[in-house]
Amino acid sequence: MTVLLGCIADDFTGATDLANTLVKAGMRTVQLLGVPRADLAVPDADAVIVALKSRSNPAREAVAMSLSALGWLRSAGARQIYFKYCSTFDSTDAGNIGPVADALCDALGTGFTVANPAFPTNKRTVYQGYLFVGDCLLSESGMRHHPLTPMTDPSLVHVLQRQTPNRVGLVAHATVARGAAAVRAAFDELARSGVRHAILDAIGDDDLLVLGEACADLPLVTGGSGMAMGLPRNFARAGLLEAGRGSAMPSITGPAVVLSGSCSTATQAQVADFRRTHEAFVIDPLQITSIDEVVAAALDWARSRLGSRPILFFSTAAPESVAAVQSRLGREQAGALVEGVLSRIAQGLVVHGARRIVVAGGETSGAVVGALGVEGLQIGAEIDPGVPWTASLGEPRLALALKSGNFGSTDFFLKAFDCYG
Ligand code: ADP
Repeated sequence: MTVLLGCIADDFTGATDLANTLVKAGMRTVQLLGVPRADLAVPDADAVIVALKSRSNPAREAVAMSLSALGWLRSAGARQIYFKYCSTFDSTDAGNIGPVADALCDALGTGFTVANPAFPTNKRTVYQGYLFVGDCLLSESGMRHHPLTPMTDPSLVHVLQRQTPNRVGLVAHATVARGAAAVRAAFDELARSGVRHAILDAIGDDDLLVLGEACADLPLVTGGSGMAMGLPRNFARAGLLEAGRGSAMPSITGPAVVLSGSCSTATQAQVADFRRTHEAFVIDPLQITSIDEVVAAALDWARSRLGSRPILFFSTAAPESVAAVQSRLGREQAGALVEGVLSRIAQGLVVHGARRIVVAGGETSGAVVGALGVEGLQIGAEIDPGVPWTASLGEPRLALALKSGNFGSTDFFLKAFDCYG
C-alpha cells in the first residue's frame, strides 16, 4: 500500500471529521483506531488516519503515541504527514500541540511546519494569529471554561510559543490573500529567520485552499480538519491521485439495527420518527436490576424481528427523565450503565447476524465500537453533513454509521439504510 497523506489525530471524533473532509476531496480514506497491530489488513487508501486519544494525556505520552503512529504511517509509504487537533486549538501550556509538532518535525528531519486550526464552515477563523469562534475571540467563547483545556488566550502565536522552545511566527491574512506563491515566499523567509512553527491566518475556505497549495512540499502540516481541505489537490496536481476513484465501499448486506444512547434534541426527534413506522425496544436505566437480564430480554425480543426491517434499541429520553435517572444513579454511573447495556446488545446482535448498524451518541459510539473490537474503518459517503457510512476492517465486516449528538435530519435512521454504498 502507498499512502499519500498519513494523518495522526489526537481524538476519535476529530479523526472522523478529518476523514469526512478527505473523502469529500476525493481521497480513499481509512481511519484506524489507535496504532494498528502489524498484521491488520488495511485496504488500499490514499489517506490513512491513525486516531489516538492523546489530546489530554501528559505531553510525554502524547509524543510517544504520535511517534508510534508516525512510524506506522511512514512504513505504509506516507508522503506527507498531517497532525490533526481541534479547531479550538485545545491544549495547555504543557502541550500537547507544541511538543507533538516538535517531535514530529525532529523525526521527519524538518525544521519548519505550520499550524492552523481554522474551520470557517464551523465559524472558527484565524486573523492576525487570533482565533475567533463565531464573532467572539476564543478566550471569550465557552472554551474559556473547558474542564481539561481552558483556552484563555486567543493569540495562537502566544499559546503555541508557550508550548515549544522553538520560535513561532505568523503568516498574516494580507499575505494569504496574495496567493500560494506569496505564502511559500513567507514560509521561506520565516524559516530563514529561525521560525519553526508558522501560525497561518484563514477566514474562509478560499484561504484554506491557498494555504493547502502552499504546503504541498512540507513534510509536516498541522491543523484542524479545515487545513486539510486543500491538500488532496496537491496530490492530484502531481498526478498521484486519480480523480473519481471515490470511496468504493464493500458490499455489506444483512440485518439492520439502530442503537441510540444519545439524549440530544435531534436524536429524540429521530427516535420518535423511527417509532412511528418501526419497532423499538426501550431501555429504562431505572428499571435495570441486572445487566445480563436486560441484555437477554433485548436479544430475545430481537430474535424474531431481526432481518425483515430495521429495529431500534434506545435509552434516549427527555431531559427531565435523564435528570431523574442521574439524580438516582449518578451521572457517570448512569452513562456507564447504559453504554454497557447497549454495547452488550450490539455484540449479541452481531452474533445473531446484524451487519448494518447505526449508533446515535458520541460516547455511545465509542463504547459500541470498542465492544465490537473494531480496529479500523473505511470511510464512505456522507449520509448527512458530518456523518458518513463506514465499513469496519476485519471480519465480519460491518456497515457502521456513528452519529453524535445533534447531527442528522429527523428521518436519519431510515435514510441511512437507504443509502449505504
Ligand atoms: P451525544 O452525542 O448526544 O452527547 P452520548 O452518547 O455522547 O450522546 O452521551 C449520552 C450519554 O447519556 C451516554 O453516556 C449515555 O449512556 C447516557 N444516557 C443515555 N440514555 C440515558 C438515560 N435515559 N438516562 C441517563 N443517561 C443516559
